[in-house]
Amino acid sequence: MEPTQKKLRVALVYPPGDQKISEPIPPPNMTIAVLADAVMGAGSVATQVDAEKEWFDRLQYKFSKAQLALMYDRDAVWSYVNGRAPAKLKAQLDRMAALLLAGLDLGRPDLVGVTLVDIRAEPLIINFCALLARAARDRFGAKTVIGYRGMPKEAFFYLMRRYPCFDYGAYADWGEKALLEIMKDVAGQKAAFTGTVVRRGARLRNYPALEGRRPYAPRPRYDDRILEKYKAYDSEIFSKYNSDFPFIKKLVTNDKRHLVASYAFELTCPGACAFCENNNKLPSDIKSVDQVVDELQALKEKGVTAVYFVNSSFNNYYKRAEELCDKLVKYKLGLKWFDCANLRVLDERLLDKMRAAGAIKLTYGVESGSDRLLAYINKGITVERARKFLEYSHKIGIWNHIELIAGFPTETQRDVAANLALIDDIKEFVDVYTLNPFYLYPNSRFFREQKKFGVKVLPYPPLQFMNFFYPLYRIVEQYSMKFSEVGGLGWEEKNRQVVESVRAVAAKIDSVASYRAIGNEHVYLLSCLYDKLGHDKKDLIRKMVRVLTVKFKPYNLNFFMDDFRTSFSKEKDPRVFLPLKGTSFLGKPGPAAD
Ligand code: SF4
Repeated sequence: MEPTQKKLRVALVYPPGDQKISEPIPPPNMTIAVLADAVMGAGSVATQVDAEKEWFDRLQYKFSKAQLALMYDRDAVWSYVNGRAPAKLKAQLDRMAALLLAGLDLGRPDLVGVTLVDIRAEPLIINFCALLARAARDRFGAKTVIGYRGMPKEAFFYLMRRYPCFDYGAYADWGEKALLEIMKDVAGQKAAFTGTVVRRGARLRNYPALEGRRPYAPRPRYDDRILEKYKAYDSEIFSKYNSDFPFIKKLVTNDKRHLVASYAFELTCPGACAFCENNNKLPSDIKSVDQVVDELQALKEKGVTAVYFVNSSFNNYYKRAEELCDKLVKYKLGLKWFDCANLRVLDERLLDKMRAAGAIKLTYGVESGSDRLLAYINKGITVERARKFLEYSHKIGIWNHIELIAGFPTETQRDVAANLALIDDIKEFVDVYTLNPFYLYPNSRFFREQKKFGVKVLPYPPLQFMNFFYPLYRIVEQYSMKFSEVGGLGWEEKNRQVVESVRAVAAKIDSVASYRAIGNEHVYLLSCLYDKLGHDKKDLIRKMVRVLTVKFKPYNLNFFMDDFRTSFSKEKDPRVFLPLKGTSFLGKPGPAAD
């Protein structure tokens, strides 16, 4: 990266949010580590702040009950950062802002960069960011950028209008580049903003994303102090689970600390699934095998014992995947790993190599049990092919995770029945399920090629009139266009059909594996059990995981979850936006959101 001339101090913050992940121990956040690599590469100083971990482990307990209630009060924090809070409220929020600054080491920043990755529409994350931004401005004169490539610019406009303490909003795909340009602006240099909303006095100005993309998947430069906090002995891992049994106690040796860290070597994908927003026309950002091996070796030297790959897939290219496996074995990296596996580019030989190279859990995008739908969405696989490799993958001891989507356009009762039959058929080979309702995304082929796929997207209000942050807990970036099936269901009926289809599939999964098998990955637990027992003992690992996960304690809750009957509710997620209060579209006011 090109150096910024003036050396800046940049605090990179991962803020706390409710319901982001429900893992008992999640891997450390990768985004701030990637941004740190870019900032340091440009000659500036980066301080990584894992405020999520600090908040849930420690910081929240420094706040009184009344202060915690305010942390969840959107109106109170909004009035404070807009200078409208009554004196008593202002004094209380001043104290809270001071507590945040005292509890987090920001390193006297010139710029605070907050990642909103995986943000949900809930008060904690925004209130936390607003208070921190305000405090950093008051104490250090620092500017604040909020950023996340998953959120459209309209959502940044919305937040920046409401919260004047946010100076920049970066929505660029290439977030590191956007940040470096913002740093130039903060340093008083000329900046070529890209994919950024910039505050200039009372005005907000949009700078569209410039051409060009990240040539290679980004490299995280993890902070050792943060990694240290994510290292866990066996006993710490088991203590988060239903582990009070002699046979579990026998397993505890505490001879090593487990550390799972995220890493990517290819975010792009050559696939062209009709529902996905991937653009396979763009050049691949895959790193060379040698670079991957070097970077994994560097992670290992930092104490990493398992890698949570966030690639589009481990094996988009057969030869490269094979070469990487061979080199991981040859150089004895000894890392366990988790990744997505592409069923199109797979055979038993490659699966054997992946296992030998450390794969313990693979996620397969199966999507549907209907061959007709698999062909329709251009998945490039058949049900038989998926079944065959899932069976083999299970046989060699891999922990199998499948992804399913219910409610595709044109889905019929027969397709739903095929989904249910598949779940029954492969239940012995599958350990974890991800189930999503169908979303028609604006950048997907379903949207771009409506005629081909027999859908008609309905007129949608411009996004600046929509409320991304209502209702509570919706995933901010996720929304579907309204559509009808040509010659089939209209939107209202289709929407109901999607909900019914998701319910049917979820109930089937519950009947073969229980709702707790939906979505919960347990990466530290698996890493620990595979380390102790190995792939050959998968049957035993399965039995243990079933017992251990009867109850578990997610890192951001202070109680054990033991009732999973209502833990899956994605079918209830509002998949379309409601308009902002006081706005209307096409002359028809919709139900108003806050
Ligand atoms: S769904 Fe997965 S395999 Fe298909 S295009 Fe998207 S990223 Fe690629």
